[in-house]
Amino acid sequence: MSKSTIALVAHDHKKAELLAWVQQHMPIMQRCHIVATGTTGGMIAQETGLQVTRFKSGPLGGDQQIGALIAEGTLDALFFFWDPLNPAPHDPDVKALLRLCSVWNVPVACNSATADLVVTSPRFLSVDYQIKKPEY
Ligand code: PGA
Repeated sequence: MSKSTIALVAHDHKKAELLAWVQQHMPIMQRCHIVATGTTGGMIAQETGLQVTRFKSGPLGGDQQIGALIAEGTLDALFFFWDPLNPAPHDPDVKALLRLCSVWNVPVACNSATADLVVTSPRFLSVDYQIKKPEY
């Protein structure tokens, strides 16, 4: 059985919070295939030793690359610690990524509280739970 694929993205002011969250959930993270935007992924790989598939940095298209995984149906969950207090040059990409999660019913956590609840759910990574994919 292949590992579930999760995406990790954090804006600059949220990177430390995401790293702490990943460190708190290492046993679960080790059971996942992790993809991430460039800078976030580099930080997580370096600080935790986890294997991370890194895309481009968010402002250079990394969010859109993760969006492509969602459109292709190969992403199981997104953990996106976005920064509500600072504008980003790629705000349209951020919005597009969140939109695709709703289009394809992909679980998405935008803060550590929700992220905690998602990864501690007995349904997370369970083979007995299949997320319903919408038919369009
Ligand atoms: P980064 O991108 O991980 O390359 O910083 C995150 C983002 O801003 O979307």
